[in-house]
Amino acid sequence: MKTQKDDHALLFPVVELFESVQGEGANAGLLVSFLRLGGCNLSCEWCDTDSSVFKMMDVKTILEKLSAFRVRRLILTGGEPLIHPTLETLLSSLKEAGYWIALETNGLINPAPPLRRFLDYISTSPKAQATGYHEDQMIRQADEVRIVVDGDVFDFCKRMREKITAKNYFLSPCCRNGNMNVAETMDLLKRLNVDLHENPWRLSLQLHKLIGVR
Ligand code: SF4
Repeated sequence: MKTQKDDHALLFPVVELFESVQGEGANAGLLVSFLRLGGCNLSCEWCDTDSSVFKMMDVKTILEKLSAFRVRRLILTGGEPLIHPTLETLLSSLKEAGYWIALETNGLINPAPPLRRFLDYISTSPKAQATGYHEDQMIRQADEVRIVVDGDVFDFCKRMREKITAKNYFLSPCCRNGNMNVAETMDLLKRLNVDLHENPWRLSLQLHKLIGVR
């Protein structure tokens, strides 16, 4: 029979663990701990995370390191956390330790009910430029959808809104050659919200970058 000791010995690729402020989406401004796992099923051009550099850590070590932070709110991010087949064990241990857990996912994998029962918040950021994936297998329900304005994503936003039921929909500008495409993002917000009277698309900025923290 599997014991808690066995669960705590499972290894996960940890890119970084740190305490900061959530910078994006509906939870912006919340003090949180971040647990970033390595590995991703996409390779976006503008990705600002090298999720290929990580240290393997067991669940016990992850819990010990997290306990050094005072907050009990955790953002589980990546990379893509849902690619890890034993994630349920990590989530269960985090929940047992009293954490509120928010998942950040690119949405390519629909989290199964056994995982969802440990997740207090799901933020998904589908990528318009990711080709060759099956939209039918994507996540269908989340707390927020956040789409990066990387080119003309008008049709993609409309399609994702039809496919993914969420409480909040956000657009995030992206940085090209050192400039944020804010004007393009504002224009898209206007176009998307023209006939939308409830739950409009909103702007999400990277608050942590604006205030100069990690
Ligand atoms: S899905 Fe996210 S973590 Fe993965 S490559 Fe794209 S931006 Fe980076």
